[in-house]
Amino acid sequence: MLRQTTQRAAARLLASGAAPDSYVATRTYSHPYPTGPTGPGSPAGDASAVVRNPSPKPADDVYQRPAPKDLAGVLDDSSQTLFLTEMWRGLALTMKVFFEPKVTINYPFEKGQISPRFRGEHVLRRYPSGEERCIACKLCEAVCPAQAISIEAEEREDGSRRTTRYDIDMTKCIYCGLCQEACPVDAIVEGPNFEFSTESHEELLYDKQKLLENGDRWEPEIAANLRNEALYR
Ligand code: SF4
Ligand code: SF4
Repeated sequence: MLRQTTQRAAARLLASGAAPDSYVATRTYSHPYPTGPTGPGSPAGDASAVVRNPSPKPADDVYQRPAPKDLAGVLDDSSQTLFLTEMWRGLALTMKVFFEPKVTINYPFEKGQISPRFRGEHVLRRYPSGEERCIACKLCEAVCPAQAISIEAEEREDGSRRTTRYDIDMTKCIYCGLCQEACPVDAIVEGPNFEFSTESHEELLYDKQKLLENGDRWEPEIAANLRNEALYR
């Protein structure tokens, strides 16, 4: 911001017609943060900190209201101060915005729209018959860059392969969505829920039961989102 302001001031001075060879480095701008000899805001570290000022007038004066030079100007200034015109104009703007439609929402009582591609809390989905979708192929575990997923599996009596353990450490997860992209049966999905903050670390160590419960809870929304996005997957 400071740098942009400085550059704008320099541009205005250049546009005022000063000859390039008359530039004189007359002013450096102080930086609001501590700076070293080559840090931002220092003449050595930031070239824009040196303003080429062709006039003896300080460069930042262009942003200040000039002092009145005649009686009309003095009267105008005095009346503005006397009648607090700046304050009334500010209040008028406040009242105008007060009656306009609000751009903010009253969260958590109102919620904004979420993209169907939003990657929130994980769920494990079931088929409509109630059978869990996951076939324990472990692709999600292999692809997870945060190594947040742990799976153990065994073969059932009917020959199908199912997980006996499916854990996600939600505090390791980076919500990249690679697990749901890798899953061949859309079993692990990141749902639309973003309100799952907890008071302890342990509560964010999800097991299979918790993930299946999430799936049962969010299935309608997730199924609709997957249908909407089917063309792009
Ligand atoms: S969203 Fe990414 S980091 Fe999180 S469990 Fe899935 S693959 Fe791992
Ligand atoms: S959730 Fe999907 S990718 Fe992960 S083990 Fe189950 S079937 Fe394989």
